Amino acid sequence: MKSARYAVLGDIHGNWEALSTVLADAAEQGVTEYVSVGDVVGYNADPAACLEKMRELNCVVVRGNHDHYCSHEESLHDFHPLAAKVISWTRDQLSEEQIEYLRQLKMHVSMDGFTLVHSTLDMPDHWGYVFDSLEAEAHFNYQHTSVCFYGHTHVPVVFDKLGRVTRRDTEMLKIEIGHKYFINVGSVGQPRDGDPRCAYVIYDTEAKTVEFRRLTYDLATAQAKIREAGLPERLAERLAIGK
Ligand code: ZN
Repeated sequence: MKSARYAVLGDIHGNWEALSTVLADAAEQGVTEYVSVGDVVGYNADPAACLEKMRELNCVVVRGNHDHYCSHEESLHDFHPLAAKVISWTRDQLSEEQIEYLRQLKMHVSMDGFTLVHSTLDMPDHWGYVFDSLEAEAHFNYQHTSVCFYGHTHVPVVFDKLGRVTRRDTEMLKIEIGHKYFINVGSVGQPRDGDPRCAYVIYDTEAKTVEFRRLTYDLATAQAKIREAGLPERLAERLAIGK
């Protein structure tokens, strides 16, 4: 197994200001590889630019629910009206070729001793939300690597296979042999844990550490673009409160 420093990016959601801040930080931190737990698009105003950046970085991306619904002509009636409106808007921003890129994304990927999934490995296409250890339990039966990264809730958190929960904001997690970790990397483009700073993690496969990073970014520009695009005002407001 080669040693590498991975930036694990989740729920970018078309927020270019947040993504470029994270990528600048990752470069400074000596990151060598980029992977993503999905939802590159949806909610914010720059879906195409964010998607193209992922491709330029050769980033391994798994499919999020927004990536799925923006690339499949399926009914949006299960969606919150806000989300449904943005999904239609996002579809219109993407070229056929970009939609095809989203359409071929895999539901989960295992590589270099870890796994990427947007929601859970037990039923990845049900888009279940894992907020607590009970919800993580079914998932662990399908996790065959010591580390699995996920997203979807936009709340960074770590579960181990014993069901212990630990919040690890801007802290270092040491991966211990024999443990299994299900790690939510938080959201680059729309944090929902009450902290508006963008979130991602750096996984160092040699040091066996997972570092949670939080960064302030140019929120005002991201908000201005949402308003200019005519997207719901609530989407601009929520960025400022991190909810
Ligand atoms: Zn999301």
